[in-house]
Amino acid sequence: MNKIWEYISVRAANALSNKQVMSLAMFMLGFFHLCLVFFFSFFGIYPMAVIDVCSVGLYIFCYIQLQRDKSLLFIFNLMYLQIVLHSVVAALLLGTDSGFSLYMIAILPIGYYAAYNFNMRKQVINPMIYVLAAGAAFCFLRVVSSYMGPFYSYGNKLVDRVIYMVNYFIAVIVIVAFISTLLNQIKILENLRLLQNKQLEKLSKTDALTGLANRRSIEERYAQSEALREGYSLVIGDIDDFKAVNDTYGHNVGDTVLQAVAEVFKNTVRSEDIVCRWGGEEFLIFLPKCSRSDASSIAQRILENVRVTDMYTADRDVFHITMTLGVSSAKKEMPFTDVVKEADDRLYKGKHSGKNQVV
Ligand code: GH3
Ligand code: MG
Ligand code: MG
Repeated sequence: MNKIWEYISVRAANALSNKQVMSLAMFMLGFFHLCLVFFFSFFGIYPMAVIDVCSVGLYIFCYIQLQRDKSLLFIFNLMYLQIVLHSVVAALLLGTDSGFSLYMIAILPIGYYAAYNFNMRKQVINPMIYVLAAGAAFCFLRVVSSYMGPFYSYGNKLVDRVIYMVNYFIAVIVIVAFISTLLNQIKILENLRLLQNKQLEKLSKTDALTGLANRRSIEERYAQSEALREGYSLVIGDIDDFKAVNDTYGHNVGDTVLQAVAEVFKNTVRSEDIVCRWGGEEFLIFLPKCSRSDASSIAQRILENVRVTDMYTADRDVFHITMTLGVSSAKKEMPFTDVVKEADDRLYKGKHSGKNQVV
């Protein structure tokens, strides 16, 4: 019951597949027509009882075909035809006031939807054909029944009314079930899209090799947060002679060096600092609310930690690398690019004066 309510209120966690929906429909329709066999037999309306026996047979056949993965459209067509024909015959024999013609209205949106959705080669069948078929049958009945009275009756006005109401409620349930299935499918797709967007956004802001924030991410965060812009410092670090690491030990070892350096950066900074891979073998640390001297001591710690970190060749031989780092602090109203340039200029000063140092 809970599951049904979740479904109707469009909160289901999983959408039913088309095959599951169709299997359920085959089961319910088979059961419904089986009830009608007993019902019509009870009232002595034998032609209808025979038609319903055939209908039950048809739904058993359809159910088996469905489990054998036969085309959904083929099975749906059989079901649609059965519903239209059953409604027409029932309405002719029992009169349109018996309520069986209501199903021709209830199945209109389903025919339209299924013709489109189950049709693998889209547009081979125009969905409007289903709408027109049920609509034409409905109009045909209204015209014919105004000339011919019903051929059978239950012999009791109260039974007439009850049967009409029952048919009405079943038709309403069919429409509600269809709409909630559709809405659940839409909502689940929508949730999937939101999740994928979140993952894509995360990917677009992360450096794949090191898992650090990338350049775009830091620039966006800076632009979005006023608090970040107050009294911050920057450290830019560049690995010394990294080209030689690649040339000597290979590109893969170079990659592991970048990952190890990223770890050193992450483990050395304060929790509020943002470490980012700025370029190939350049790293930037954004230090909010941090003086230049504090930033310098963090840079100094990084320099030392990188120096002592063991790096490994493909043969597990140990080697060490060094870095050069430039530090700068934002002065009032200084654009971000100017602060970056200042740190960069100091970094290059360090490169030209022997590397392996903080400037
Ligand atoms: P310097 O001390 O002056 O910084 O010299 P350098 O050799 O470190 O500088 P250079 O700019 O000449 O070389 C940087 C190298 O970094 C060149 C490039 O192939 C390498 N590199 C950039 N990105 C990656 C990467 O993702 N993986 C690897 N393995 N190497 C990279
Ligand atoms: Mg370098
Ligand atoms: Mg460089």
